[in-house]
Amino acid sequence: MGARIAVYPGSFDPLHEGHLDIMRRCRPLFDEVVVAVLENEGKAPLFSVPERVDMLRELLAQEGPGFRVESFSGLLVEFVDRLGACAIVRGLRAVSDFEYEFQMALMNRRLDPRIETVFMTPREEYSFVSSRLVKEVFRLGGDLRGLVPDAVLRRLGERLPPQGVSA
Ligand code: ADP
Repeated sequence: MGARIAVYPGSFDPLHEGHLDIMRRCRPLFDEVVVAVLENEGKAPLFSVPERVDMLRELLAQEGPGFRVESFSGLLVEFVDRLGACAIVRGLRAVSDFEYEFQMALMNRRLDPRIETVFMTPREEYSFVSSRLVKEVFRLGGDLRGLVPDAVLRRLGERLPPQGVSA
């Protein structure tokens, strides 16, 4: 059997502690975890895809081996297949995430039955954190310490003015 590779896809705009918690949890279950930043520039993003990839690489370099960061566009199952990965990892925060995630998992299974979707739950203290809320609190000048990694806080601080960012 080859290496067991999992893909953890998302927008990560911005990356927060809930995402990192899922990455740390799934890492020991696989030989390699590829964090995949979706190139969907539909809504005005806070950080560009290359900026998000940079931040993730910087942070995951501190977490030890077994992580890789890539960006992708198009069908997720095709990206997963190209990597020779066997699983898609998704985070489930609450029941509210379930319906959408369930539909996605079944659609992806229909598109490629060989790929399994693995759901993971974060530590309770991160279960309310979302990129959307992080952006909103940032826009309004609230304190995000402890909810996003320091490297992300620093880059948020370089963004001027906070009012210019849409949530
Ligand atoms: P997407 O646009 O694909 O939902 P996100 O960056 O918002 O991308 O989330 C990526 C993945 O991380 C999703 O599976 C999402 O459910 C999960 N996730 C987001 N926030 C949290 C959190 N606080 N705890 C656990 N998982 C989370």
